[in-house]
Amino acid sequence: MLDSAVFLDRDNTLIEDPGFIDHPDQVKLLPGAVEALHRFCGCGYRIIIVSNQSGIARGHFDEQQLSRVHQRLGELLKAEEITIDAIYYCPYLDGEEAVVEKYRKDSELRKPAPGMLLRAARERGIDLSRSWMIGDRISDIQAGTAACCRTILVRSNRTQYNNHVQPDHQVQSILEAARVVEQHRNSTDKPSLDSPEPTTHELLAEIRDTLQRQQRQELQDDFSLVRLLGSLMQMLAIVAGLWGIVAIFGGRDVAAIPRIGLAIFFQLLAVTIHFTARKR
Ligand SMILES: [Mg+2]
Repeated sequence: MLDSAVFLDRDNTLIEDPGFIDHPDQVKLLPGAVEALHRFCGCGYRIIIVSNQSGIARGHFDEQQLSRVHQRLGELLKAEEITIDAIYYCPYLDGEEAVVEKYRKDSELRKPAPGMLLRAARERGIDLSRSWMIGDRISDIQAGTAACCRTILVRSNRTQYNNHVQPDHQVQSILEAARVVEQHRNSTDKPSLDSPEPTTHELLAEIRDTLQRQQRQELQDDFSLVRLLGSLMQMLAIVAGLWGIVAIFGGRDVAAIPRIGLAIFFQLLAVTIHFTARKR
């Protein structure tokens, strides 16, 4: 059985967000974060951080600096006896703001795309339908929804709402999010990726196949009836023909004529039925 995980946004969800953190000294856990992480672990969830880090593409810091920041975060949590399973980050950004060409691109890893969650699930054996995505931005919710995770929006004064994006739960803090996770730990209200809902294309293909099967079955049924009728006509033609031959050999030519005529009639009927069946 696959593990389940709590995917956590980093900035303004787990740690303070002064804007483009580029030094370990800037890493400060938000109030309630430690207790929340203990609760996630207590429920059996693995903890995976998924963070957009466009500061790299913008030229504010590089991946080595980011690595030291994350190392500091790991140390802070280790001191609280909390182990994070992994940290995934997206250094890419599309557009003119991305001044570092190496990182200028539209990436599937960047939230609201679900790339980081999908990669984590693939690499670490995570069942996304039993997992959670928690973050303070609508893009976190979009990423979690796209990955078929349950979602919790941690509201803040910086959250920009979108009427078309509805998180499964909304809370005021990461600690409150942990309580929601505890309450719903044994339920899954999202479809599993292992058994996705059929797409419109798949439904149309299924309808087409069903109709074709029905048509084939009807043709088979019709053909069986027609063939039976044709065989019957053929037998009658043979009987009538033999009857006419008996009359001829008996010297009763007058009686033979209608019998032979009847045989020809039945034979024509049999041939007609045979060709009709073949045509269908
Ligand atoms: Mg955030």
